[in-house]
Amino acid sequence: MHAFISGFRQKVQESMEIRDRILVIEDDKSIRNFLMTILEANNYDVILATSGTEGYGLLTSQCPDLVILDLGLPDMDGIRILKQLRQWSSMPVIVVSARMHEKDKVEALDLGADDYITKPFGTSELLARVRTAIRHARAASRTPDGVQSGVFQAGDLKIDYDKHRVYVNDVDANLTQNEFKLVSLLGRYAGKVLTYDFIIKEIWGPNMDNNNRILRVNMANIRRKIEKNPAQPQYIFTEVGVGYRIVEPG
Ligand code: CA
Repeated sequence: MHAFISGFRQKVQESMEIRDRILVIEDDKSIRNFLMTILEANNYDVILATSGTEGYGLLTSQCPDLVILDLGLPDMDGIRILKQLRQWSSMPVIVVSARMHEKDKVEALDLGADDYITKPFGTSELLARVRTAIRHARAASRTPDGVQSGVFQAGDLKIDYDKHRVYVNDVDANLTQNEFKLVSLLGRYAGKVLTYDFIIKEIWGPNMDNNNRILRVNMANIRRKIEKNPAQPQYIFTEVGVGYRIVEPG
């Protein structure tokens, strides 16, 4: 009897659970079906659009929690949809693009896309990107200025935002001030890729010419200080031609 009641309660809770709704705008049928299958199996509600016009209409009428947007659509460039959307909404957008199109990814990120996935992508990568983007959107709406405090911990890496220190295995990594700013910026957007231009503007200001050399030098120094093997980083990853991403806490 007891088991029956708790089972019943669980059912009621499940049916009352509010699911996040994801709009997929993708003209390729196999990718669309793949996305729908994975997302529905992981408790998301999915709305599908096969063209840019249809997708944009659903964006405005359905206000989904997240959009997965293919850049190469038959009737309209995905970038155009992103631009239009960003004029009135900050809802999270993950862009889907073909491999080797780094320029498109950077453009999409700089125009306000939250992340990208490259075809062909795997299930766990997709779900991680989706979770991260939704979580960041929620966090950003709670703390608009993104003021950081407390501690970020991922494996042996610890960022102490209050003390302005980074530790590896509880040993101070002795980062310089700019190196700390860089690591804490990545930590604030953990799991999300940040473009070179975005990082340079945040750390060195808008007047810094966007030459990546100074950023690369700083990153090399950071890696020497925090990674066991700087050539095979486990904390800060390079997204070739795009930028950097730090692991999610945990
Ligand atoms: Ca396409």
